[in-house]
Amino acid sequence: VKVIHSVSDISRLTEDWRKGGQTIALVPTMGWFHEGHLSLMRMARRLGTRVVVSLFVNPIQFGPKEDLAAYPRNLERDRALAEEEGVDVLFATVAAEMFGDNFQTRISLSRVSQGLCGADRPGHFDGVATIVTKLFHLTWPHIAVFGEKDLQQIALVRQMVRDLNFAVRVVGHPIVRETDGLAMSSRNSYLSQEERPKALCLFRAITHAREFVRRAVGEPVIPALIAEVEDIITSYDGCSVEYVRVVDRNSLSPCQVVDQNSVLALAVKVCGKVRLIDNALLLED
Ligand code: AMP
Repeated sequence: VKVIHSVSDISRLTEDWRKGGQTIALVPTMGWFHEGHLSLMRMARRLGTRVVVSLFVNPIQFGPKEDLAAYPRNLERDRALAEEEGVDVLFATVAAEMFGDNFQTRISLSRVSQGLCGADRPGHFDGVATIVTKLFHLTWPHIAVFGEKDLQQIALVRQMVRDLNFAVRVVGHPIVRETDGLAMSSRNSYLSQEERPKALCLFRAITHAREFVRRAVGEPVIPALIAEVEDIITSYDGCSVEYVRVVDRNSLSPCQVVDQNSVLALAVKVCGKVRLIDNALLLED
């Protein structure tokens, strides 16, 4: 894998690839790779003839009280993992290179950025949309692979691609989980050994919600469902609910009844410090 740090180098290389008829698949990440990231890379490897993985801990998507400084980083480890997956280029860059000292622009989406994580993290999705736009301009991808774990993020990217006519095919990858069901996340590394079992409340809540729905398809069970899910989460010592919603997987608007597109979306704080998200379709395809 070739590691590129500079904006001009990555854009020159990907422009050459484009002109040479290559199909470029991009996987945007913030690094500290786990099996979720690696699965996205494998999917990109199947879809494109050239794979670019970007690694950038993007400061403009972190709030002032969030974990920017603490976010786990290890370029050498990530480089070795990307190498094993046959990634062509790791675009590992830093804020000074991406933004310079006079950066003034934000890409802002309205409805899709509101609610869910957008309500808890003001400005977060403007930061995401802005950086994804820059990455699209810098790497010229035909395909961009995003994880469905970040439900609102992928909905936002799809909306932006439609609205702004990006010639990029956005491909979603299903959530990759640990064997006990915890969705993989770089932030899981913040959990101590004692805290780790508590993080299972999200998957337990999802499993319960799906059983609950199976017993009552089409009936207006959503408020009762949400109440039960909240009870499960708070029954874990130290876990608190940031949100529990049932939304349409595409529009993210609240569902009135459960159907094939209904997703249970969760954000939970574990032990007052680690914010984890998860989601799942309530009716399995
Ligand atoms: P991050 O480095 O957390 O910004 O994630 C980079 C990409 O990997 C995003 O598209 C995430 O949605 C995706 N991703 C992270 N964790 C998982 C997971 N457990 N399963 C599937 N995709 C994931």
